[in-house]
Amino acid sequence: MIRLEKLRKEFGDVVAVDDIDLEIREAEFTCIIGPSGSGKSTTLRLVAGLEKPTSGTIYIADRDVTRVPPHKRNVPMVWQLFVLFPHLNVRQNIEYGLTKRGIGRKERRKRVEKIAETLGVERFLDRWTNELSGGEQQRVGLARALVLEPPVLLLDEPLGSLDAALGLAVQSELKDLQQRSGITFVYVTHNQSEALAMADRIVVMNEGKIVQIGSGTDLTDHPGGRFVADFVGQNNVVDGTVVSNDGSNVQVRCPLGSVWGRVLSSEKQLTGPVAYAISADRMRLASSEADASKEGETGAAADSPNIIKGVVRGEEYRGVWTTIVVEVNGTMIRASVPSEERPSLGEPVALSWSSEDAMVIPI
Ligand code: ADP
Ligand code: MG
Repeated sequence: MIRLEKLRKEFGDVVAVDDIDLEIREAEFTCIIGPSGSGKSTTLRLVAGLEKPTSGTIYIADRDVTRVPPHKRNVPMVWQLFVLFPHLNVRQNIEYGLTKRGIGRKERRKRVEKIAETLGVERFLDRWTNELSGGEQQRVGLARALVLEPPVLLLDEPLGSLDAALGLAVQSELKDLQQRSGITFVYVTHNQSEALAMADRIVVMNEGKIVQIGSGTDLTDHPGGRFVADFVGQNNVVDGTVVSNDGSNVQVRCPLGSVWGRVLSSEKQLTGPVAYAISADRMRLASSEADASKEGETGAAADSPNIIKGVVRGEEYRGVWTTIVVEVNGTMIRASVPSEERPSLGEPVALSWSSEDAMVIPI
């Protein structure tokens, strides 16, 4: 649906987008993720035609649109969905694009009512936008873009200013809507959990370059490097050195001690300096008996779980789960534990995890 070839955008000395090649498939939900300043918004604005590339080519549905002005590309862009026209009511906001295109009154009415129903805002059609909650306003903003039935919808951090609970609700609605409509979504976010929840494919950007493309599972299970491991869900990444490697089980010496992990099949020969990554979600609190029996044997065998001891230094309550921050030999490690079982600050704890869940990545 969209193809970028050697696309580049410079702002003075800054290379915002650095010769990227990318194909976005029709009817897929593609997320572009990366830290702030990695070039996500610029990429999206180039596709929308809101920026002119320094070099490279943009195809939409096999048509070279590199020099086509934005209003002729039929790829609407939604930012923070809040941006509604305050002087128009909900109905007028949604039908704005249809009116501009000269679509007749009867047809407009039909299409507005259909999309309003899909998005659950049909009861608000005659209200002013300031009489709606944040979530309702966002749904109206989406309706305004979707009523045009675009082949592609570009979204730049549209849930950015919503509180977490509302954000989650709109996330699942968006995913649902994308699947039902078959519209190609390109969704930019710096929030990896948003991408993991919604995307069919995730494009990871860093410093203007694409560092990896894959499904959420590809990225979490087979990160293409330390950056991706760090950015996508592996909340604990530490530097280490390979001590032994039999082609599948790898022993690594790192600030956590001597620990075991696995290598990707393509990295069977891995030696030397590496990154050791383990997700907070794969960490468990080890019971005191297990702790006692394993004491001093950390990582002694590939088939026994890794166990480390530390002291709780922080916690982030997240409802059913709490992320605790545990200091281990001066390194901070994060672990998700059931909130009901969370230890107190300052308490000594033991954490364990399976070698299968820890990844050893070349750096
Ligand atoms: P992201 O959306 O990933 O946070 P952006 O695409 O907005 O990143 O920005 C990428 C880089 O390009 C940043 O260094 C940013 O400061 C720079 N940049 C973006 N837009 C402009 C602009 N209009 N003028 C100058 N520099 C810009
Ligand atoms: Mg941005």
